[in-house]
Amino acid sequence: MTERKIALITGGSRGIGFSCAKELANAGCDIIINDICDAATAQPAIDEIKAIGVNAWFYQFDVSNDTQVHDAVEKMISEHGHIDILLNNAGITKDGLFVRMDAEQWERVIKINLGSAYYVTHAVIKHMMKARQGSIINMSSVVGLHGNPGQANYSASKAGLIGLTKTLAKEFGSRNIRVNAVCPGFIQTAMTANLGNTEEYAKLIPMKRLGTPEDIAKVVKFLALDTDYVTGQAIEVAGGLII
Ligand code: NAP
Repeated sequence: MTERKIALITGGSRGIGFSCAKELANAGCDIIINDICDAATAQPAIDEIKAIGVNAWFYQFDVSNDTQVHDAVEKMISEHGHIDILLNNAGITKDGLFVRMDAEQWERVIKINLGSAYYVTHAVIKHMMKARQGSIINMSSVVGLHGNPGQANYSASKAGLIGLTKTLAKEFGSRNIRVNAVCPGFIQTAMTANLGNTEEYAKLIPMKRLGTPEDIAKVVKFLALDTDYVTGQAIEVAGGLII
């Protein structure tokens, strides 16, 4: 029997990350969910993945804390042996117009959304290099490609992820490690729950609806498992929001 691939998903206990975890579990991967919440809060997500028939483990740590990330990844490797797929998904918003955006608002978003991808990827990639295979997916956003008023910090963090994606794709392609970014548009999750009248947003979208976490998960699964030759790409999954 061939060993199952293991996917590590940061911020994976809910929203887009959790959908991706389920999609990869349904495709036969064992799942490591990271989140900042405690184990009891993440337990329903772990139970749902296990019910699919694969292994699921939870590791609580803050993706913006280099020491916590390093220690957790070393523990994962000693307990499970390998990480084949890394989805850098954890992210936050702290929106505000630029003139009123204070340094704390700027630094927190950059550190959690972009710094985390450095910390987690840096800890994981040496193990992928030894295995001479891996797929890394960074959860960017359409605003990382196109900008958005009120989201200078968030847009910069998501644009930074695209630069990181393309550079790592060039550095690690020869090691058979692929690195891609997914750029969701308006997706219905807790992050967008306070946007107000979503019907107005839907009118702006050629597909005339907001996206679902499952819409994103299908593309993540494609990049993680269904292709061996796509790397360095930033794929918009936004119902045609910006064409
Ligand atoms: P979400 O429902 O808020 O989920 C984000 C998850 O990340 C939460 O479980 C959150 O935990 C966790 N997290 C936050 N800070 C963390 C930290 N320091 N360490 C570990 N985990 C942390 O958001 P989502 O909508 O699913 O978004 C997932 C990703 O997609 C994000 O990177 C987001 O920027 C991106 N995205 C979303 C949309 C959208 O329309 N929803 C569009 C484009 C891109 P807590 O809740 O416990 O803090």
